[in-house]
Amino acid sequence: MKHEEVDVLIIGAGPAGSIAAAYLHKQNIPVKIVEKMLFPRLVVGESLLPRSMDRFDEAGLLETLKSQNYQIKSGARFIRNEQICEFDFSKKFGNGWDWTWQIPRADFDKAITDELEKKGIDISFETEVFSVNISDENCKTFIRRKNGEDSVILSKKIIDASGYGRVLPRLLELEDDSKLSPHSAIFSHTKEKNRPIGKEGTQITFDIIETEVWLWVIPFSDGNTSIGIVGNTDYINKLIDDSGSLDAALKEALNRSDFYRDRFVDTEFIFEPKLLKNYSTSVKKMYGKNYVLTGNSTEFLDPVFSSGVCFATESGALAAELITKELQGKKVDWQKDYEEYMKYGIDVFTTYVKEWYTGNLQELFFFQPENPDVKEKICAVLAGYVWNKENPFVRKHDSVIRNMAYLIKMNS
Ligand code: FAD
Repeated sequence: MKHEEVDVLIIGAGPAGSIAAAYLHKQNIPVKIVEKMLFPRLVVGESLLPRSMDRFDEAGLLETLKSQNYQIKSGARFIRNEQICEFDFSKKFGNGWDWTWQIPRADFDKAITDELEKKGIDISFETEVFSVNISDENCKTFIRRKNGEDSVILSKKIIDASGYGRVLPRLLELEDDSKLSPHSAIFSHTKEKNRPIGKEGTQITFDIIETEVWLWVIPFSDGNTSIGIVGNTDYINKLIDDSGSLDAALKEALNRSDFYRDRFVDTEFIFEPKLLKNYSTSVKKMYGKNYVLTGNSTEFLDPVFSSGVCFATESGALAAELITKELQGKKVDWQKDYEEYMKYGIDVFTTYVKEWYTGNLQELFFFQPENPDVKEKICAVLAGYVWNKENPFVRKHDSVIRNMAYLIKMNS
């Protein structure tokens, strides 16, 4: 079988794999990406968090992304019936970026991989990893090209950034159950005919239909808008059964929104709506000798706070930094420096997701009069700064939301 050699092989060219590749290439480490699909390809994950901007900058990708003129996202709006809660990233606790983007992901990922290729990074599209053999000495990755030709890549390290492909979790039996209850989503894009002028037309919004059911509206700068409905899986199954098709189900979801019903009354979807069922995932461990898992191939929580790409960029960058150290002969404590670090941020967002669906966090969001001190601290979490332990809404995440919601309920 034909074979080639590289220092680091990356599986998947989404944000996790691309950031990792850009970092390694900057350190002059020979790297190759193998990607199953041809880009642009359909992928969900269109609302970014400011924390990712740090990582795009460090990876040398920021200027390319700025030149794409994506819709600026400077905060987020949550709606529950008549109540509105708006977060403005410039009014958050601590330092950090106060804006990011709303992006059509297919274009975004293509813009990044084009830039990586321009920098000289080898990306093999339409090439699927189907088997691996990882030993203490090296890694053998077996790949199949679209024309059916198989070959093997020898590398010192593998970074798994295969997202929902979950290549190493499947092949190495690392899959674990998610701690979150099963939720599902239906989504598509629409070309807006009645988009309001100004902020109303461009602001990202999460509209709560029921405590566990919410709609996303993410306007892009090209005039298209992403729409999705998320709910517990029983709700989504019933919505589809009652409506008869995914198209009808997503239109019915829009019809259930008092806020958006009129704006999207005659909406036609650009592509047949997609269903993502029971999307939360987890793994037993995030690394092993000569390999590391990043992005969605580790843990995916929930779309409600748009944490997915943030974790993808954070883990992709960190994995690349640590591999660089190791290849330079330095010792790396993967448990402490990688898994425990990543888990800390994941645990913070896990609490926020859980408390969103219990309704406790929604109590804090919509409480009147607003408490600016509480709000700026929650805002920093929603901006992705979930490793800043000076923020009590990070440090005490497992109790603070529940306790404050309890006080609100006791006093109402
Ligand atoms: P991906 O972007 O999925 O990239 C993985 C790549 O690996 C793919 O291109 C795939 O083709 C490739 N691959 C897979 N298998 C193989 C193989 N065998 N060989 C070679 N290549 C392979 N996140 C946000 O930040 N904001 C949001 O608004 C948001 N909304 C979401 C809504 C829903 C309903 C869901 C389910 C998720 C959402 N996410 C969101 C999460 C987001 O989609 C992911 O967290 C993010 O795309 C992860 O990036 P990644 O690089 O890990 O994986």
